[in-house]
Amino acid sequence: MQTTQELPAIAGGQKAKQTPFGREKRYGAEELAELSEALEQGTLFYASGRKVKQLEAEFAEKNGVPYAITCTSGTSAVHAALMAGGISPGEEVITAPITDMGTISPILYQGAIPIFADVDPHSYVITPESVEACITEKTKAVVAVNLAGNACDLFALKEICDAKGILLIEDCAQSFGVEFGGQPIGTIGQMGCFSFNEFKHISCGDGGIVITRDKELAERLRLATDKAYNRQPDALEKRPTFLANNYRMTELQGAVALAQLRKLDSIVARRRAWCEKLTEGLQGIAGLHLPKILPECQPSWWFYMMRVEANLLGADTDTFAKALQAEGLPVGAHYIGKCLYEYPIFQNHTAFARASHACDAYSYQAGMCPVAEQVLDTCIMLSINEAYTERDLEETLQGFRKVSSWFAQ
Ligand SMILES: *Cc1c(COP(=O)(O)O)cnc(C)c1O
Repeated sequence: MQTTQELPAIAGGQKAKQTPFGREKRYGAEELAELSEALEQGTLFYASGRKVKQLEAEFAEKNGVPYAITCTSGTSAVHAALMAGGISPGEEVITAPITDMGTISPILYQGAIPIFADVDPHSYVITPESVEACITEKTKAVVAVNLAGNACDLFALKEICDAKGILLIEDCAQSFGVEFGGQPIGTIGQMGCFSFNEFKHISCGDGGIVITRDKELAERLRLATDKAYNRQPDALEKRPTFLANNYRMTELQGAVALAQLRKLDSIVARRRAWCEKLTEGLQGIAGLHLPKILPECQPSWWFYMMRVEANLLGADTDTFAKALQAEGLPVGAHYIGKCLYEYPIFQNHTAFARASHACDAYSYQAGMCPVAEQVLDTCIMLSINEAYTERDLEETLQGFRKVSSWFAQ
């Protein structure tokens, strides 16, 4: 990184970003055509229409697996995976302290206890060592969160889980299009869960999907999203045999998600190209730690997270983030603020209004995952979009250069 004498915006200089960042319309003619076909069918029910079936077939094929089962959200995708895996009250599920609540609430809904493993200081995802240390007799699953378009050390996690007979579920809500060891993300664990919410790589407003290679899990996943009614014509028992919700995707969501899926490769390729150049351009700023990507991983960059080492950078996390914002850059600090176990639901035992939850007996304390806490205290995130241009890149780098040179003085 070159240094610069130009004044940053916080010291009265011109903003580095003078024009709006590249944006493009998310939904267009392709989505409209699919939607219109869905409506023409005269049914919006997944079991009688074609759009959800088509989406499941294309998503499975894209990921090289035989089964993909749709649902209403990323949260319900994780929940369906836990239901399919038979996770039951009082059992323990190891997961990440830095994630969306949608990873955690399904564990609680099963009456199970989330156990938080600590993360790698620079990839921000749970480490195999930390997961291994969390395993007890009661551990039945690991929900590994592939955060921010990056991946966990999935082969190592799989080995640990297999050795103990524990299910590995991948939460891929932020990692559409990632490859790990040449395999699509979500195919190393027994199940991979994705979200089509408004803010993810591809969207249908809200929606989700789970992929698996396992026929039995696929059958249970379908039941888990459909009140456990078995709609197979040859089913011996059509009535529910286990507890499940209505998490059915409608043909409207299916139609939009189908059109979006066909845009995914382009979205991922553009994010990758832009972020590779960003990484190159940001090298060498003392005190700014760039994200670590495992050599097996091809990331898809949902956002770009970095860490500030204040004494080297000359500014603390908030001061640095504010200075970058003043340059016109879409930068935030601290991501979710606090680790999940510090949320009121765990600290105040308020999962249920009048009865206790199995997790209430577990002691969730600040300091449980010291690395994750340090990560959240010191991280800044740059929003990424596939429509960002070369000019956006130049001005972003210029902003970082000005601000870091200023604080380095
Ligand atoms: C977005 C997200 C979810 C939940 O997805 P929804 O579709 O919003 O329910 C779960 N896990 C992670 C890591 C997410 O980013």
